[in-house]
Amino acid sequence: MTTPTAARRGLAERLAPFSSTIFTEMTELAKRTQSINLGQGFPDTDGPPAMLEAAQKAIAEGVNQYSPGRGYLPLRQAIANDRATRYGTVYDPETEILITVGATEALTCAILALVEPGEEVVALEPCYDSYAPAVAMAHGTLVGVPLVPKDGKFVFDLGRFAEAITPRTRLLLLNTPHNPTGTVLTNDELGEIARLAAEHDLIVLTDEVYEHLIFDGLKHRPIAALPGMAERTLSCSGAGKTFNATGWKTGWVCGPASLVNAVLAVKQYVTFVGAAPLQPAVALALRTQDGWIRGLRASLLDNRDRLATGLADAGFLVYPATGTYFLTADPAPLGHPDGVEFCHWLANEVGVAAIPYAGLSDRHDLYGSLVRFAFCKRPEVLDEALARLAQLNG
Ligand code: PMP
Ligand code: GLN
Repeated sequence: MTTPTAARRGLAERLAPFSSTIFTEMTELAKRTQSINLGQGFPDTDGPPAMLEAAQKAIAEGVNQYSPGRGYLPLRQAIANDRATRYGTVYDPETEILITVGATEALTCAILALVEPGEEVVALEPCYDSYAPAVAMAHGTLVGVPLVPKDGKFVFDLGRFAEAITPRTRLLLLNTPHNPTGTVLTNDELGEIARLAAEHDLIVLTDEVYEHLIFDGLKHRPIAALPGMAERTLSCSGAGKTFNATGWKTGWVCGPASLVNAVLAVKQYVTFVGAAPLQPAVALALRTQDGWIRGLRASLLDNRDRLATGLADAGFLVYPATGTYFLTADPAPLGHPDGVEFCHWLANEVGVAAIPYAGLSDRHDLYGSLVRFAFCKRPEVLDEALARLAQLNG
């Protein structure tokens, strides 16, 4: 078959750099090499049984047609109640909460809705891989502010963040707890970012999917809870990470009605609505599964410490992580100065898959050797991976 010229041109030029995702790439490599997959962040155990049963029951009882455009109302009510109780932020479930197909859709639709061509979105770098293509789809520019690896930890540089703001800046896109570094921004840092947002009259778009996966006595604080921020913040989160259900792709965005309406205007033509029978199940989980979430957090904390100790014993420099599913490790002390080459070698020769930071940032000067390992796996799986990694130091 000959390919017509129009088909040969294919993907639009501005999206060409984003033709495949690092997570898919590394999961396929893990499968091909039969590696233990500590790359893509998904748990290997299920969420709360009551939630799973509620979804099955919803399907059996006929909740199988389109949900309302803004999502199933009892889910929006459960989210409003959860955020009011936990954070003191008050949202009207009728007008200020929108259910989306994962947090990814909330973030992408917010960017498409709010960013004019040529405008800039400032985000912490490295960043989740959907941000840059979403900004490119909006014909905007993503301006990364690096979390700087320094003396074995990641440092937020407020001065650099402030300098990244220009008259073209439209959004501050804030992910805390942060993927991939595991950084949790402090209250002081959030306060400074809020001050900058107010000073430059910017909207803050947050990615809080790891809001519950936070350790060492820290607590998540949405920037929307800071004085004066509710009216300029869109807060995105979802059920995937909180309830071990990444495949459910059920997320949400909360914020002032005018901004939520803007996101809805895009979302209704992207997917219209998300999967109906999952929504009552997530609502039930938000209402009743606090104890389950506490258990998840405790087991992830054990896993983090188990993996951190094992990686350090194997000869990696391990960065501390106070949130998320992820630990960052530097294999340079083991004689591997390039994270991409190392990840391919590791899967092929050792049977463990990880994610190179190069898939999440172009700043090779800062992150060239770094790799991310996920610890959202059963302890015996982590032990087997660590047994394989132990040979690196031998
Ligand atoms: N943001 C971050 C920081 C993530 O790590 C992920 C991965 N789950 C997402 C967004 C996507 O969330 P969802 O699957 O709910 O779209
Ligand atoms: N959030 C997950 C991660 O960072 C994966 C999401 C995806 O595969 N798109 O690993």
